[in-house]
Amino acid sequence: MHEMSLAEGVRGIVEDAARAHGGRRISAVVLEIGELAAVEVEALTFCLEVVLRGSVAEGARIDIEATPGTGWCMQCAATVPVAALYDACPQCGSYQVQPTGGTEMRVKAVELE
Ligand SMILES: [Zn+2]
Repeated sequence: MHEMSLAEGVRGIVEDAARAHGGRRISAVVLEIGELAAVEVEALTFCLEVVLRGSVAEGARIDIEATPGTGWCMQCAATVPVAALYDACPQCGSYQVQPTGGTEMRVKAVELE
C-alpha cells in the first residue's frame, strides 16, 4: 500500500516545517492530490492518522484539495482534460495522450498552532 510511504513523506515535510518555525505544533496540513496520482484519499487519511500519532502534527486537520488531471494530446496538439491515466483523448479518441497535470501529490501548506 503506497499510501503508507506517502504518509511518511508528508510527516517528514511537516516535521521539517515545524522545526523551521521553532518547533511549533502543526494544526492543519493542506494536501494537493492530483486526480491522476493514483492515491486513495481514504487510505491516505487513515495512514496519516497512524503516522502522525506522536509527532508535532498529531491530531492535525487534513485538508485535501483535488487537482484535475490534464494531458497533452499528440493528435489534437492541445492540452485536454483527463479523468484517468491511459484514458483516450475526450476530443479525438486517440490514446496518444501524455499526462501533464494532476499526476502528483504535494503538501501545499501547513498551519502552525
Ligand atoms: Zn485528441
